[in-house]
Amino acid sequence: MMQFNAKRASPQCTIVFTDLDGSLLDHTDYSHAAAAPALERLREQGIPLVPASSKTAAEIIAFNEQIDNNHPFIFENGGGIGVPRGYFPYFTAGRREGDYRLHTNGRPYTEIVNCLRSLRDRHGWRFSGFADWGTDQVMAHTGLTRVAAKAARQRLLSEPVLWQDDSATLLEFTRQLQEQNLHLERGGRFLSVQSIVDKGKAMNQLLQHYTEQYGRPIVTVACGDSPNDRSMLLQADFAVIIPDHLGRHLQIARNDRVHYASAPGPAGWREGIEHFLS
Ligand SMILES: [Mg+2]
Repeated sequence: MMQFNAKRASPQCTIVFTDLDGSLLDHTDYSHAAAAPALERLREQGIPLVPASSKTAAEIIAFNEQIDNNHPFIFENGGGIGVPRGYFPYFTAGRREGDYRLHTNGRPYTEIVNCLRSLRDRHGWRFSGFADWGTDQVMAHTGLTRVAAKAARQRLLSEPVLWQDDSATLLEFTRQLQEQNLHLERGGRFLSVQSIVDKGKAMNQLLQHYTEQYGRPIVTVACGDSPNDRSMLLQADFAVIIPDHLGRHLQIARNDRVHYASAPGPAGWREGIEHFLS
């Protein structure tokens, strides 16, 4: 079978959108070390790396600084996009956060948390989330360092929750959220309560800006491991599906131009990127 090659398809206009936790970052220790050669290759080839994560803008900005990445990102599962100042000349709206401008799509965090509290008061359901926890508890639930946990608490658009009730009530919880125009998304570690937004829609928002900037079609590669990556994986020209720590792959409704990585986390990420871009 002929191998599709995203790079050869369009050398200057390839963009990689990637999930972080469980994909570019190890599920347990959050290291990206095993992906380093592929990250270097993207940098050498001038291919933008766009993180797309359930993480907050503050967390992704810190990550971008850590790996010296100066490209836009998708935060809180598509609740918003962050763009470095001056990156797209016409992208000036939105709030400022460090050297970035943030555009948000969803309802504000306080509204989401208020809605969750009133559901819990009314039904006595057992669940807890970031709004219930201090920094120490966030550290305990996520394994993040203190600095990282503080950044994770700077939420704008989504609330990660741990469900501690049974699966029948989880269905009812999901239904009640829908009535409030909220959506429950499953990530690697938490359930996320958010507006009806997803990574795929946010990816499209950024692609519109990129298309305007480049003036020609763009080839996209998306990498992910969880249901919250599905919209992005379906939309991309090339999809890399990273297995979870038990080796299981997310099922998606496409079978062309998909690479099922053989290893979880950053090792699988490197394999997938090299598969399509070498
Ligand atoms: Mg993930």
